[in-house]
Amino acid sequence: MINVDKIREDFPILKRTVHGKRLVYFDNAATSQTPQIVIDTIVDYYSNYNSNIHRGVHTLSQEATDKYEEARIKVQHHFNAKEAYEIILTSGTTNSINIIAAGFASILQKGDEIIVSALEHHSNIVPWQMLCEKTGTILKVIPMLEDGSLNMDAYHDLVNEKTKLVFCNHVSNALGTVNPVEEIIAKAHAFNAAVLLDGAQATPHIKPDVQALDVDFYVASAHKLCGPTGVGMLYGKEKWLQKLPPYEGGGEMIATVSFEKTTYAGLPHKFEAGTPNICGGIAFGAGLDYMNAVGFDNIASYEHELLEYGTQRVVKN
Ligand SMILES: *Cc1c(COP(=O)(O)O)cnc(C)c1O
Repeated sequence: MINVDKIREDFPILKRTVHGKRLVYFDNAATSQTPQIVIDTIVDYYSNYNSNIHRGVHTLSQEATDKYEEARIKVQHHFNAKEAYEIILTSGTTNSINIIAAGFASILQKGDEIIVSALEHHSNIVPWQMLCEKTGTILKVIPMLEDGSLNMDAYHDLVNEKTKLVFCNHVSNALGTVNPVEEIIAKAHAFNAAVLLDGAQATPHIKPDVQALDVDFYVASAHKLCGPTGVGMLYGKEKWLQKLPPYEGGGEMIATVSFEKTTYAGLPHKFEAGTPNICGGIAFGAGLDYMNAVGFDNIASYEHELLEYGTQRVVKN
């Protein structure tokens, strides 16, 4: 069970007042508040070992590199990815989706089809429209039923040999619908299409297992998981991450450079050009630790209690 009073104490922002009243914060789906342990992690980074990673040979750089790579492993374990290098640390869900969309722009051909659900966040629609304009790929949409669920009969009719990719929310940001992702993935895979799940709204409530789901790509943002803004993750199956070209050129993502030819670094660095959000990545790990310490089963059962309470009050009044 959850001790709500004790959890409240973990969030210093809840001590402030707004319009003379104690803060009540309901906008967690847009961004969650930050527990003291994550704030402490950020302060500790800038107070004690702020430095650039992967390149430096000095103590601070080695400490920062170790902590950053530990954070990657925390994300790997949280999502049950097979390999740590299948986790790309990005600036958030939007950035993760754009990396995949840009990669597929060089794989897709005119006449190929991609499928997106009608329940998507704008960040999961616009990159695909941009991609279709560039490649001549056709965008198909899974329609929604009146009860807010996806029309799965229509989905089964949409998938065919031309389908190359299916993109879907794991949980909808608009309605909270939990989509039948296993069914979506199984059907897509039967036609050799890849599946990307947008986990930005699922991850605060569910601990996804990317291997059990057998999903090809999974993306999420730290700031909806008690972590800081400006950092997120992209899980990709190794075979897909090998296949997709890098997103940005720059430092960190190259192995050797000359004006004749540049060879790219291996995973995950191929997709992590430039100096990353080092502090953010480490604090992302601290946010996941915090949520796991509270426990996803505890979170789910408390949320269910709140939902029943809220629904009753709305129906009664
Ligand atoms: C919040 C959200 C995004 C975008 O996340 P950013 O952190 O703003 O990049 C994408 N998809 C869904 C479902 C979201 O809830």
